[in-house]
Amino acid sequence: MTFQDFDFGDSLLDGLDAMGYSQPTPIQAQAIPIILDNKDLIACAQTGTGKTAAYLLPILDKITQLPDDQRHLNTLILSPTRELAIQIDQQIEGLAYFTGVSSIPVYGGGDGPAWNQQRKALAGGCDVVVATPGRLIALLQMGEINFGKLQHLILDEADRMLDMGFFDDIIKIIGQLPAKRQTMLFSATMPPKIRKLANTILQHPEQISIAVSKPAEGVLQQVYMVYDTQKVRLLKHILKNGDFGSVIVFVSTKDMVKKLDEELRRNRLVCKAFHSDLDQKEREEIMREFKNKNIPILIGTDILSRGIDVEGISLVVNFNAPHDAEDYVHRIGRTARAERTGTAITFINDKDQRKFAAIEELIGAEIPKLAIPPELGEAPVYNPAAKPKTDDSKRRPAGKSRPKRR
Ligand code: AMP
Repeated sequence: MTFQDFDFGDSLLDGLDAMGYSQPTPIQAQAIPIILDNKDLIACAQTGTGKTAAYLLPILDKITQLPDDQRHLNTLILSPTRELAIQIDQQIEGLAYFTGVSSIPVYGGGDGPAWNQQRKALAGGCDVVVATPGRLIALLQMGEINFGKLQHLILDEADRMLDMGFFDDIIKIIGQLPAKRQTMLFSATMPPKIRKLANTILQHPEQISIAVSKPAEGVLQQVYMVYDTQKVRLLKHILKNGDFGSVIVFVSTKDMVKKLDEELRRNRLVCKAFHSDLDQKEREEIMREFKNKNIPILIGTDILSRGIDVEGISLVVNFNAPHDAEDYVHRIGRTARAERTGTAITFINDKDQRKFAAIEELIGAEIPKLAIPPELGEAPVYNPAAKPKTDDSKRRPAGKSRPKRR
């Protein structure tokens, strides 16, 4: 199957060509005909499958065929985070480059000029709005937006939006949209609360599902059993001995992000910390530098795990075990984007064994456990059925003697 099979207009095909997309991915092959057919859709698809273009392409094609008076504020895309909103907007910019379709990302946290730019674009009536629910609610309450002509609503990463507590905001926003519209809901997982939301806002939806909570196939997954005190040295060993291009290291808290950043810099590794204390400009600057390959290593919390779309990330390291299977799949989905290959390494301490065993069960795969280099000392044994015996944080690193009693 090729993109020509969908009868897209030439200007959109030119955009696809420029983006280097030659063939639809499976989610695109399934979703595009349904969306072109004006049906509601509920799609279960993980990140990295090409789900964004799966809804953007048919919508962009439809917009190009509309008369001018039906185009403005035609489509609303709701995203859980500003990072994902920016990412979606950038994909629109690329795909719609030759079509004349306009879009604006609307999210909180920007400075005054950004806020004014958003308001101006909305008042001027751009075609597609990509928004986080919080900021959109604020604008709606100020009476800044009239969605009277809206034809398409897309909820991207709907499970994440609900996890972040946006259910009420979403319902409020939808209350201000025309009842007659086409609605598409994309989610990596389908827990009951997503079904409930879908039943409330979709009408006779078609359903498609592309591998639930399964990592993309091109990811080589590995685990090191390790004590907390060995983690930094193991990470340095991996980074210094492997031939990796762009690397993301996931850490559980922003304080740990900052600490690890300092530690790696002390060891002459070029890296940057990405966390919620940075303002929007700083975040965008770091992402730009990372995308341009000027920064090889990015250290961050789960704020980085969703929607960050950077080509050529060859290694993802989970310095701390992810909270659950969904987070695991999202984190490691940062590598092996669009059928390329990559490696995902997870450090598991004694305490995280059971949690990781549950993740393995959910993704239906047992991840190989690798031995740490002998110079790091003895590692814990993987045995998730056993109760953790030690308080991991109090373990001595290899080679260090027991502190003397005073
Ligand atoms: P997504 O799952 O939407 O986050 O997309 C993952 C990555 O795949 C992004 O970098 C897209 O630009 C890329 N992509 C999406 N569709 C295609 C395609 N048909 N061919 C090649 N790359 C694609």
